[in-house]
Amino acid sequence: MRDLNIGATVRIVTPPSGTPLDLGHGHTLEWRRIEGELHGAQINHAGKDGQPCRYGWIYFGEPAGWTLESEDPPTVSPSILCTACGDHGFIRDGRWVVA
Ligand SMILES: [Zn+2]
Repeated sequence: MRDLNIGATVRIVTPPSGTPLDLGHGHTLEWRRIEGELHGAQINHAGKDGQPCRYGWIYFGEPAGWTLESEDPPTVSPSILCTACGDHGFIRDGRWVVA
């Protein structure tokens, strides 16, 4: 399975939709929608220094985005690797699973 890196190049500025979902392990997820359609999510997490990491945006579909397997409970593939802090894990069945 390939990894995908969160970061940097693609950011779509949309307000979060609803309440952040607690994934556990210090991670929360905020869906991002454009005109009601789910385009991505912000994965909030702490960096190595314990402060909120400024990275964490993921997007779905092409080009080379993640696959949203399920919205409820959230399941995304493949894994999510933060290029800023090295945070790496999976979102499966609404939980953060450390890689
Ligand atoms: Zn990070």
